Amino acid sequence: MLKQISIALSLLLVAACTNNEQALKKAELVISTDQMKEYIIELGSDAYQGRKPFSKGEQLSIDYLQKCFKEIGLEPANGNSYLQRAPLVMINGEVSKPLNITSATNNISLNYSNDFVAFSRQMKPKLELKASEMVFAGYGIVAPEYNWNDYANLDVKGKTVVVLVNDPGLDSGRDAFFTGNAMTYYGRWTYKYEEAARQGAEAVFIIHDDKGAGYPWSVVVNSAAVAKVYPESETNYSERCQMEGWIHQSKAKELFASINIDLEQLIKESKQNSNTGFAMHTTASTSITNTWKKDVSHNVMGMIRGTDLADEYLFYSAHWDHLGIGKTIDGDSIYNGAVDNGTSLAWMMEIARAFKAMHEAPRRSVIFFAPTAEESGLNGSGYYANHPVYPINKTVANINNDLMLPFGQCKDVMVTGYGKSDLDDLLAEEAQKQGRYILPDPNAHTGMYYRSDHFSFARVGVPALFARGNNDHREKGKAHMSEREQYWINNCYHKPGDEYEDWWDLTGVQEDAKLLFRVGWRIANSDVYPQWKEGSEFKAIRDKQFE
Ligand SMILES: [Zn+2]
Repeated sequence: MLKQISIALSLLLVAACTNNEQALKKAELVISTDQMKEYIIELGSDAYQGRKPFSKGEQLSIDYLQKCFKEIGLEPANGNSYLQRAPLVMINGEVSKPLNITSATNNISLNYSNDFVAFSRQMKPKLELKASEMVFAGYGIVAPEYNWNDYANLDVKGKTVVVLVNDPGLDSGRDAFFTGNAMTYYGRWTYKYEEAARQGAEAVFIIHDDKGAGYPWSVVVNSAAVAKVYPESETNYSERCQMEGWIHQSKAKELFASINIDLEQLIKESKQNSNTGFAMHTTASTSITNTWKKDVSHNVMGMIRGTDLADEYLFYSAHWDHLGIGKTIDGDSIYNGAVDNGTSLAWMMEIARAFKAMHEAPRRSVIFFAPTAEESGLNGSGYYANHPVYPINKTVANINNDLMLPFGQCKDVMVTGYGKSDLDDLLAEEAQKQGRYILPDPNAHTGMYYRSDHFSFARVGVPALFARGNNDHREKGKAHMSEREQYWINNCYHKPGDEYEDWWDLTGVQEDAKLLFRVGWRIANSDVYPQWKEGSEFKAIRDKQFE
């Protein structure tokens, strides 16, 4: 009897699966390159002036996205509104003095821009370091899962901390140690500033090097030179260091030599163990003058309400903002952002349409989230993560995209941040059904996982996936894609040339939409929570939410 029931039940399940497969196939058909093209041309048109937050381009962008969400049949996801206000503050910092470093015997002066940069996220007219005691703190990392604490034997309260960029896994040749060459979050500058603040430091400077940072000193200087945008904080960031910055490596060498320390040797030792920190017996002095402007930008969010698990949430995301109007290049000053991030917005809206094309709503609620101010430092998604509309411990996963290249179908599915969560396994199963393979991001040492909006979710514990075809064209192979990508980076990346072009082939973005629609459909119809894998830097944060 029991057996008969189970056979009947399994037949029923097979039938359900086949029906489900047929339904998914049918729903996928609504994902259309023509529709994507329409979205991209509109959002990337000159009328939108490069979609800069706070500009006329913002109003046009959020109006258009709301109109699309409504047409697709999404409900407002923030009460009765499609918008979430994101109060931001734009801070202009002026470093008015050199960074003077004094020891008992020496005085070294670092010049702004050539030798160091400094900034502060606090809305205070003047921020001053006055003979602040300096402490070297290795990589500035506290990572229990690697039994690593650079601050263990140091007193840095009210002092100025100097740390190395990246993490000790780089060039270690050990994949299990801080994930080898792939950067962990501990390697990112944002983490180092956060950790120094947790330790109570007054200021923090990172010693730059090209490889460790993933970009040259010029990038550090250029980004320090423009006004910085932060989510507005109720505490005016008083919990943060009052000053954050970078020191050029050659100047750092000189500084350490002046206290009889060979920096090269110190870096070598700091890679091996976490107790290389010491009081430097030097002091740092400089000052910053801050001016600021507050303004409110907006995240756009629509939803499909779930059924029996409606109070659990899957988030898709793609930022709507871009750089606005800037320096003229080849007679054009509008930074249209058709690929960054028009293609991903089109990808997300087509996934929403596929969900709506299913006969029934998913079990869990699905949110389609277009955050603002990604380009200035993940500010819209960062604001959301700190002010979530839905509980973070009921937010089961995030699937984000950014910079989806319109160069045709790929055999690979490149996963940025591969190996961090179960989502990779789910993705691999679905990718295989499309005849595709998973490719861990070949440039994982640059820390790209920490540089788009999925990271705002990961940082607060939500497993987050950043994946798309990128490297291996179905017919023309890897060399072709690499040549296309290089062309695009040189001519279009963060340039006025990032515009829609007639020769584009959107079938790759279409295929990625189908793929991540299926991945999302499975998550939205499961009652299992995707998990961070052992060794992931976000696992402890997530586990705490379920204690
Ligand atoms: Zn982007």
